[in-house]
Amino acid sequence: MTATLLHGKELAGALRQATAAHAADLTARGTHPHLTVVTATSDGSSAWYVRSIARAAEKAGLRCTITDLGDDAPAEDIRARLTELSADPDVHGIILQTPLPKGTHLEDLASAIAPAKDVDGANPLSLGRLASGLPAFAPATAEAVVALLDHHGVALHGRHVAVVGRSTVVGKPAAHLLLDRHATVTVCHSRTADLAAITSTADVLVAAVGRPGLITPAHVRPGATVIDVGTNPTDDGGLVGDVDPSVMSTAGALTPVPGGVGPVTTALLLRHTTLAADAS
Ligand code: NAP
Repeated sequence: MTATLLHGKELAGALRQATAAHAADLTARGTHPHLTVVTATSDGSSAWYVRSIARAAEKAGLRCTITDLGDDAPAEDIRARLTELSADPDVHGIILQTPLPKGTHLEDLASAIAPAKDVDGANPLSLGRLASGLPAFAPATAEAVVALLDHHGVALHGRHVAVVGRSTVVGKPAAHLLLDRHATVTVCHSRTADLAAITSTADVLVAAVGRPGLITPAHVRPGATVIDVGTNPTDDGGLVGDVDPSVMSTAGALTPVPGGVGPVTTALLLRHTTLAADAS
């Protein structure tokens, strides 16, 4: 068996096209959607990612401003900038990019982002609302997991989904979104006693860990759908996921890295910004 590749390009393209049309309409009515990305890191791959968001935003007709506070920015400066942007009527979406300076915490700082502008669902209020079934922006990566499964016609109702990873950015919000879709969800993490015993019973496996090759054929039920969220830089400047390539012979379907979850995540960030602008 060779797994079908579940590419993200087509879905990302459709989302970007719809967002561009929405942004053009809003701009014609006097509201030009404006996304701001606040960074406080000298990490090269993060800078590359932020530039790619800015390029995608501009292509879709959104404004994008990057504010770099430097990798030694104190927590109070980051918090103050987020508070200022939250109060600025000209700003519709705010992303606080990770990694953050040592000793600071995303959830703590992101609580300064107004929920209405929290387009990457980083404010703990957004996760709380999501978990309570109330309207909120979900973290774009978690939403991208479900959007990709829907796009490729993978049923969720009543199926067992194993999510490996319990971060507030991916694992936990993905679990809530999947529960909302009536999947039976098991969340695994670094202390899970026998990971393969659990994941190999899942119809759908979502790997969101950050460890190349962690998921092997022993972790995958034959024919299962595997969503690889991991993005791990390689020495030669490439990117690999958490799923070992040998899983191609066990899984029924698998997302590629790059080219799976990543492009959909970026497209959803832009969609969220346009929705936030529309609601402003
Ligand atoms: P994170 O905050 O470091 O969380 C990693 C999770 O994996 C934790 O819950 C951890 O468990 C768990 N874990 C670590 N080792 C494990 C093991 N051996 N077995 C089972 N679980 C294990 O990472 P994150 O921010 O969620 O990101 C996860 C991956 O997704 C990274 O590769 C990141 O680059 C990627 N990502 C991709 C996108 C995208 O758009 N494609 C966006 C965001 C993130 P504990 O909680 O017990 O420590």
